[in-house]
Amino acid sequence: MNKINQSTISVRSGLNSDEQHGCVVSPITLSTIYNFTGFNEPRMYDYSRRRNPTRDVAQKALADLEQGQYAIITSSGMSAISLICMTFLNPGDFLIAPYDCYGGTYRLLESLDQKGICRVRFINQCDLKSVLRSVSKYSPKLILIETPSNPMLRVTDIAFICNLKKNGVICVVDNTFMTPILQNPLQLGADLVLHSCSKYLNGHSDVISGVVITDNIKFYERLFWWVNTLGITGSAFDSYQLLRGIRTLVPRIYQQQKNTKNIIDFLLNQAEIKSVYYPGLPGNTGYEIACAQQRGFGSILSFELHGSENTLIKFLRSLKLFTLAESFGGVESLISHPATMTHAAMSQDSRKKAGISNMLLRISVGLEDSVDLINDLNQALGSIR
Ligand code: PLP
Repeated sequence: MNKINQSTISVRSGLNSDEQHGCVVSPITLSTIYNFTGFNEPRMYDYSRRRNPTRDVAQKALADLEQGQYAIITSSGMSAISLICMTFLNPGDFLIAPYDCYGGTYRLLESLDQKGICRVRFINQCDLKSVLRSVSKYSPKLILIETPSNPMLRVTDIAFICNLKKNGVICVVDNTFMTPILQNPLQLGADLVLHSCSKYLNGHSDVISGVVITDNIKFYERLFWWVNTLGITGSAFDSYQLLRGIRTLVPRIYQQQKNTKNIIDFLLNQAEIKSVYYPGLPGNTGYEIACAQQRGFGSILSFELHGSENTLIKFLRSLKLFTLAESFGGVESLISHPATMTHAAMSQDSRKKAGISNMLLRISVGLEDSVDLINDLNQALGSIR
């Protein structure tokens, strides 16, 4: 059989799998318990924390999209990261993470370090010499990569860092920004890929969910044991909703990306805008790497306004079609202020190091008509002219 493409996987994975009624859409199994067929004769399912049929269907779709063998759906993106840390790190082990990662990830890793659960070093992963230096200095057990980074959209060379696996390092890529449609880290040498499914994969801003995907059966078995032991598997209802979102993943990704290109062309010509950050812009850190390792540049951009905090507040107040909210990847356009929202958990000093200024705004471009979105940005910029 020919290779099945991602559009087909996302639409058809798990269809017609119901043998009882012949449902085309895979039914939701809410039961938490399953009867034994006899004394000491459990079925494949015994208790939904460990395994659930609806979660299994969604896991298969996610594994296939990421071109991996095994997937584990967790209760959130943060629990996916916690699961990886609990499974693979022992006290004293080093973890290397990007200094400009998602603020919640930064908070978790910093807290694990403070509690002595592992030791964490945040570095600039776009500087490959600094990566090499850190690997030889700390001999890390785990390297977490997040590319493009949040919110500065810097791109890291996944294949280069994964090549360091020779030293026994486990390489993990947070692929939330790109989704499996635009980037497949397992193909670039990563051991584990994680997503916050709360973003593009679900796509409708109504599910909190995460996933870890791997090709390595030994890693999968260890993760499976820990996810059940910690009790952080995703619920049946969330898995059902997530699969529903995945059905339209491919056209959403491409249309949102098209809208983003139109918005960037507009922003680049506005005098009130100091700088624009986007992986598809030639001046952006890692632009050449993005061209080689990604199949597109995505639909998140950041920009800095000229002026003061008052300018920023006036601009945000004037917007009608962009909702001031955290998160990204839904069908609706959002705008956020990283310094007071997604990255508020970082100290001002750490934010400064990561280049996150108080005048920086991040936009997640949705599925609205890009002409309407541009008109809205134009009138809001007019209010600060
Ligand atoms: N990874 C990235 C890149 C994120 O942006 C987020 C959340 O914004 C997470 C992980 C955490 O995911 P969740 O909010 O589903 O716990």
